Amino acid sequence: MRTIYDAHAHLGTEEERRWRREHGIVTMVCAGDQEESKVLSGLEDSHLVKAYGIHPWKADSQDFEEMVPFLEKADIIGEIGMDRIWCQVPIKRQREIFERQLALAFCWKKPVVLHVKGMEREAAKIIRRYPGTYLVHWYSDMEGLEDYLEQGCYATVGPDGMRNPAVCQVLEKTPLSRLMVETDGLGAVQWALGDNVKLQDLRNVLEDSIQSIAVQKGVTMEEAYQWTEANFLRFAAGK
Ligand SMILES: [Zn+2]
Repeated sequence: MRTIYDAHAHLGTEEERRWRREHGIVTMVCAGDQEESKVLSGLEDSHLVKAYGIHPWKADSQDFEEMVPFLEKADIIGEIGMDRIWCQVPIKRQREIFERQLALAFCWKKPVVLHVKGMEREAAKIIRRYPGTYLVHWYSDMEGLEDYLEQGCYATVGPDGMRNPAVCQVLEKTPLSRLMVETDGLGAVQWALGDNVKLQDLRNVLEDSIQSIAVQKGVTMEEAYQWTEANFLRFAAGK
């Protein structure tokens, strides 16, 4: 079975993690607060690539200092950012927590996973002050993607792929050397595609996205696999 690289997901259940491991899916898992970070850091799993960061939804409930030890030992910081669509946390607070983490990532030269829902323009402006390696995950606005691409950011093809015009745009505009695929976890796939999607479908969801890359970029399926793998590993190495 060919290994597939899922560039964005969350802890999920133990069953989901086992299924991923048994089905050759290497997954970048983002722990969004201290509690998740404790769980993630305790897992021994060769198919997990671990990222730690205060999720924007947690910006007013998670104590910053308590997350610092996880940020310190993280190879990847994320997902962090701002969100004015899916959460009520005051933007001022979100921005403060976001920038404090960006400053650490910048000092420590660590790659960063971004969540920028409804705050696309502003977040792109903010990261300009902290040059580094960024992955903007499931970008879903019809405008502003260029602000990220011109800074050399990586981008994922969200699990709704060709069904979502904003995701089609990511496929079209992002260079092959910057594209990855993601599920955002089983729960997010079900949210986007319907509850009839099961754990057993996760590989297909990722393979559909890889196929969309192959078609859009005019490469073979095998080349598309190789690009998503190489991009994942390069990003994780902070390059
Ligand atoms: Zn996520």
